[in-house]
Amino acid sequence: MAIGDVVFGGDHRPIISGPCSVEPGYVAHAEAAAAAGADVLRGCVFKPRSAPDRFQGIGAEGIPLLDEARVRTGLPIIAEPLDGDDVRLLRDHVDGFLIGARSMRNSRLLEAAGRAGIPVILKRSFAATYDEWLGAADYVRATGNDDVILCERGIRTFVTETRNTLDIAAVPVLAGRTDLPVIIDPSHAAGRREWVLPLALAGAAVGAAGIIVESHPVPDQSWTDSCQALSTPELRNLIEQVRRLTSLCELSST
Ligand code: PEP
Ligand code: MN
Repeated sequence: MAIGDVVFGGDHRPIISGPCSVEPGYVAHAEAAAAAGADVLRGCVFKPRSAPDRFQGIGAEGIPLLDEARVRTGLPIIAEPLDGDDVRLLRDHVDGFLIGARSMRNSRLLEAAGRAGIPVILKRSFAATYDEWLGAADYVRATGNDDVILCERGIRTFVTETRNTLDIAAVPVLAGRTDLPVIIDPSHAAGRREWVLPLALAGAAVGAAGIIVESHPVPDQSWTDSCQALSTPELRNLIEQVRRLTSLCELSST
């Protein structure tokens, strides 16, 4: 399956990157991610937040920034819809949907995203078993849309140092359970930028089909998730290291 012309589930393991949320300077942020080697852009204009007094995303007024970023970089873009209205608003401006961890259990949203007929990256809820996660994927697939990519982004455990505990075993375990590609989100698992690279490499080492990682040219100025955003040089370094490790793993398996 492909997001735009970027294939997931093949030899190339795509890197999806961009800031956590779209901000007024988004086009430059997207260009920086593209220059660092990202294959697909994050372009989240609607943000699910843990409390209503926090920035909820720039909203529909950010959609022209997605269009411009897509044209300027030539890269496909994904965004997160929070409800059926968002699906309709975003449908013609993105190449794929991201369903966030909080929304994994929203079956109506999964159906709406599936019916839109573009690929859906389905994040695992922080408290979902593999069966629950695959069941959520089935809601998308039941609409006739099999272009689903699973994303492990960390689960809740008794470990409090990291934001979530990356369940790296999801990649090999699900390889035996489903035909869907599994990608890794080291950013929301780590919660701190210094742990993002090692978790991304762990994902590459177990054979993840791709990585989604948050980046920002000036990480400390990110409007959301600034602690875990990588700078542009850090993103470039991560992409190079992931590529090197992936080719090593491929060599040793031949
Ligand atoms: C995100 O990707 O910015 C996000 C909100 O992630 P999650 O749904 O995994 O918490
Ligand atoms: Mn985020």
